[in-house]
Amino acid sequence: MADITLWLPERDTVTHQALGKAAEECGELTQILARCIIQGIEGRDPKTGQPNRERLAEELADVDAAISWLFELLDLDIETHNARSDRKLTGFREWADMIKGSPAE
Ligand SMILES: [Mg+2]
Repeated sequence: MADITLWLPERDTVTHQALGKAAEECGELTQILARCIIQGIEGRDPKTGQPNRERLAEELADVDAAISWLFELLDLDIETHNARSDRKLTGFREWADMIKGSPAE
């Protein structure tokens, strides 16, 4: 079996663009997450003066829209998505409680 295989781009143009847009929006979210980590949620963009908190909310909304579009377009299972998301959120909340109770806090 060859180690190299042929890869071709997604052939459906709308799906191709929706996947690309989701990746682009995830990149924008990654940028503001990094800024919030290094500068703080209450910091501001040094060039525009926009609060990090406001920009974070915008990019979360953009990613949310991109995700919703993919679910519609690809007919993904929303019930499975919601169940997994609920499990993740429960875990994140438990983790936050563990952090709050740790010696580092
Ligand atoms: Mg965006």
